[in-house]
Amino acid sequence: MDRANNMLTVNGIDVQIVRKDIKNLHLSVCPPLGNVRVAVPKHVTDDNVRLAVISRLSWIKKQQLDFKEQPRQSERQYISGECHYFLGMAYRLELIDQNGKHEIKLQKSGKFKMFVRPGTSIANKEKLLNSWYREQLKQKIPELLEKWQPIIGEKAEDWGIKKMKTKWGSCNIEERRIWLNLELAKKPPACLEYILVHELLHLLERNHNEGFKNLLDQFLPDWQARQRLLNRSPLAHEDWDY
Ligand SMILES: [Zn+2]
Repeated sequence: MDRANNMLTVNGIDVQIVRKDIKNLHLSVCPPLGNVRVAVPKHVTDDNVRLAVISRLSWIKKQQLDFKEQPRQSERQYISGECHYFLGMAYRLELIDQNGKHEIKLQKSGKFKMFVRPGTSIANKEKLLNSWYREQLKQKIPELLEKWQPIIGEKAEDWGIKKMKTKWGSCNIEERRIWLNLELAKKPPACLEYILVHELLHLLERNHNEGFKNLLDQFLPDWQARQRLLNRSPLAHEDWDY
């Protein structure tokens, strides 16, 4: 049986499991906050992953400690070598002079290539990256809605992406419209899915009460681990609410 991606908590450590077409298990501790991610072949069970994580606990803790002692990222300058995030993974920015159209290419090698005219301002580079993030989210969200709307039994009439300062998502219940924060493009996919499910569940329950928590437990049993992952991921705002 092929299993889905999910979260697991092992000895207090939240582990993100990514199942794909590979032969071996790959465990990584990602900067800057030491999130643990395990890529495994599709048939591998959660128990197998748990054992693999336990056998590497001391190594994981050492990595996390190393990251903790590193200085925090400062404001973005959009210069080559700077670290930027996409779907929870860190990429190195490489600026390449180009006189044509501005564009961004993401490479599997871990590079974010930004092709811009020489002298482009930081603000315009930021705009370019944000519109790229927006495009990526726009491609991901429809498949998540298609997956979750039938499961939850509610349908959003409309959805959109915007920059929000204090919220990861919001739901206008009367208009059945869902908003998702652009920042989610930088977070692991498990976080985007969590916020989308959370906002869809507001179509069943307006408030963050016990009933709402029960719905989350029912539809997304690992939601608390996903929420912690969201808050620990880089660029997290101090008082995000949901
Ligand atoms: Zn909410």
